[in-house]
Amino acid sequence: MPSVCVVAKKCGGCQYTGIPYSEQLDKKQKMEEDILGYYGKVERIIGMRYPCFYRNKVHSAFGKDKKGNILCGTYQEGTHFIVQVDECLIEDKKCQEIIRTVKSLLKGFKMEPFNEDTGKGLLRHVLVRRGFKTGEIMVVLVLGTHIFPSGNNFVKELLKLHPEITTVVVNINDRKTSMVLGDREKVSYGKGYIYDELCGCRFRISPGSFYQVNPIQTEVLYNKAVEFAGLSGKEKVIDAYCGIGTIGMVASKKAKSVIGIELNGNAVRDARTNAKENGITNIEFFRGDAGDFMIKMAEKGEKADVVFMDPPRSGSDEAFLSSVASLGPKKVVYVSCNPMTLARDLDYITKNGYFVEKIQPVDMFPFTEHCETVVLLIKKEKRKPETFSKNNNKSYKPKTKAAPSQSGKNTKRKGNSK
Ligand code: SAH
Repeated sequence: MPSVCVVAKKCGGCQYTGIPYSEQLDKKQKMEEDILGYYGKVERIIGMRYPCFYRNKVHSAFGKDKKGNILCGTYQEGTHFIVQVDECLIEDKKCQEIIRTVKSLLKGFKMEPFNEDTGKGLLRHVLVRRGFKTGEIMVVLVLGTHIFPSGNNFVKELLKLHPEITTVVVNINDRKTSMVLGDREKVSYGKGYIYDELCGCRFRISPGSFYQVNPIQTEVLYNKAVEFAGLSGKEKVIDAYCGIGTIGMVASKKAKSVIGIELNGNAVRDARTNAKENGITNIEFFRGDAGDFMIKMAEKGEKADVVFMDPPRSGSDEAFLSSVASLGPKKVVYVSCNPMTLARDLDYITKNGYFVEKIQPVDMFPFTEHCETVVLLIKKEKRKPETFSKNNNKSYKPKTKAAPSQSGKNTKRKGNSK
């Protein structure tokens, strides 16, 4: 297994390069215990058998060095300087290969990288996404201007060299922004999206859709979350912060009905399409703030049996958490990519009617310091408010609480694109 990366220091995306994988897992286990141990026993982290080349989404920024050589790679931490990346330990090999081909074609087509300062040039970023199960590949060429001279020929040449590419999208991003994708796009080849499969469901992935970056561990994570929910087929389930509907759709096979709530309109559109294409009829998706939606449900006197919640790194908010308490589901399954904000939210929720039954870390981002966690919370029965400390985790000794954080650590988020 390769473990040395020549650009690790400059790139900053992988904080654990050079550290053997078993040690990386030990470090994450300790971190989880330090931060979450106060709330219950932390199960042993589930790692990967082969922790390299797992990222199914690879982004490369294009530019030039002082001598005028073309660069493509990642931004140096906290800056807009491009670090040339020839090989990456965690990115999908095929996606990396395609990016290298794009770079090698630029000169022949007289295509200049876009210069953010002068606004001149053309190619700004390349994004490649690959469906792990389907093998479908999407290439997004992000241009700094809407004119793409010999664009058709460029795409033809790329497809000739990589016939495995299933779709090519040209995206225009001519604004001064650190966002990769702009609002306008044109499909140059294929459908404009790819499919992938997770836990027996098929998902459509558009250029901007959120989709977990480690497909192998995502199945582990989702299966754990659904296992924690212990569904029998009779439950009314909420999938809050549902993205393109992944967790809810996987759970829908074992539940009576599912409601998915998501802020991003495109993701909701993808979620609805995904449900239809999978023939799932017991799921509905709503666009909106998860907290607002849940408060309205609670006000209408509606109930839910299980709430899955998978918020962004900043965690949830009091509006949402208090509405969970009012809706009163028997179980809450909290999927988190940031143990600090998770601890903050657990603090609230355990003071408002729930106890922590299980804490399971899953390593979704080997070589980085990030760690995903699934927590099962169970509603305390009214007459036995002391059940938390007695029933749960008999062998567990409470530790001191970790200092809560508003938004978590502000480290580079290569491992985790939530
Ligand atoms: N559960 C999904 C997505 C998790 S990422 C998956 O596993 O793929 C977190 C999602 O929360 C993003 O799609 C983001 O758009 C959404 N989100 C962020 N703030 C939100 C809010 N206040 N209400 C509802 N959704 C929100």
